[in-house]
Amino acid sequence: MSNRAEFLIDLSALSSNVSKIKKECAVDVLAVVKADAYGHGLIRVASTALKAGASWLGVALLEEAITLRENGIDAPILAWLVSPGSDFELALSHNIDLGVSCIKGLREISEVAAKLGKKARIHIEIDTGMTRGGFLDEWQELLKEDFAHVDVIGIFSHFARADEPGERQNVEQLQKFKQMVAELEKIGINPAIKHLANSAATLKDKDSYFKMVRVGIAMYGLTPDLTHMGTSKELGLRPVGQLRAKLHLVKNVSKGSPVGYGASAITTTDTTLGVVAMGYADGIPRVAQGAGVFVNGKKAPIIGRVSMDQFVVDLGSSNTAKSGDWVIVFGDGSHGEYTADDWGRASSSINYEIVTRIGPRVPRIYEL
Ligand SMILES: *Cc1c(COP(=O)(O)O)cnc(C)c1O
Repeated sequence: MSNRAEFLIDLSALSSNVSKIKKECAVDVLAVVKADAYGHGLIRVASTALKAGASWLGVALLEEAITLRENGIDAPILAWLVSPGSDFELALSHNIDLGVSCIKGLREISEVAAKLGKKARIHIEIDTGMTRGGFLDEWQELLKEDFAHVDVIGIFSHFARADEPGERQNVEQLQKFKQMVAELEKIGINPAIKHLANSAATLKDKDSYFKMVRVGIAMYGLTPDLTHMGTSKELGLRPVGQLRAKLHLVKNVSKGSPVGYGASAITTTDTTLGVVAMGYADGIPRVAQGAGVFVNGKKAPIIGRVSMDQFVVDLGSSNTAKSGDWVIVFGDGSHGEYTADDWGRASSSINYEIVTRIGPRVPRIYEL
């Protein structure tokens, strides 16, 4: 069987990004591997990141953490989106650190820990101004809770606008973080690991480091924000993933041909079209316009609407691409190909969404 589409993962680029970040920040690095390591493949990415200098792994879901353990990974793992009602017994038996963001969760975890006769390792999440996860209205109540059955390993929060380094909200969130940490310490709870920085803050805001940073998108070699932070290259990062697909078919068509569902595009000249064997079921955004593929040293833009399994590109009159040839959907841009940032912009989105939505039908192929 031969593939019609592949996501090529350059593990040496991943290692180089992790070790560069580790060297420059000089604190512990928690490698964020949620959502199948941003689409790059959970296990290979996690083990490579640990070898390259990360000492913690971070995931959203408990099942992601369990999968890491089941694959023999014994580094500390923090799972921060573990809601009340989760299988805390399973979590504790796998030695998973749990993010806690409400009293109900804390009590359930404490109860399970008491039953098992051990202490649960928790990280208290606080809302310092993003108004998403973390303690806010229950904060004062939390300070009166019973912490006898938990070890408060960490306290953490998340920036809303770290990818806009000059924004006041970043300073305000940092201040609020320090204030809430002090309030916790006042009741005698002194978490060893305070953590706040995501990739953007790790790249631009040393004041937010404390003892550990949580790095996601930068580890994959992508910029947290093209506009405010520059390209991957400007940040010294190497994009890890290259998405490629086969040209299912190349055909010549005449001027005035309506292309695809809804005839949303009509050829303006006689031209050569290529049918690319990927579609929105594989994570190519249906609305994308203004990106395309790279073949034979040339860009070929999308024409018409993306379908479920395929999309059409305009190869123009001079491209010699043939049915069955490989094309690059996105890569690091060094040869002139489109990037994940280009695809993000082409679909009013961001590189994060482009890589995390690459579907399960696309095999991940690892290069060392
Ligand atoms: C996803 C996530 C991160 C990583 O963010 P990046 O911008 O990819 O570095 C860090 N912390 C938390 C809590 C997250 O949910």
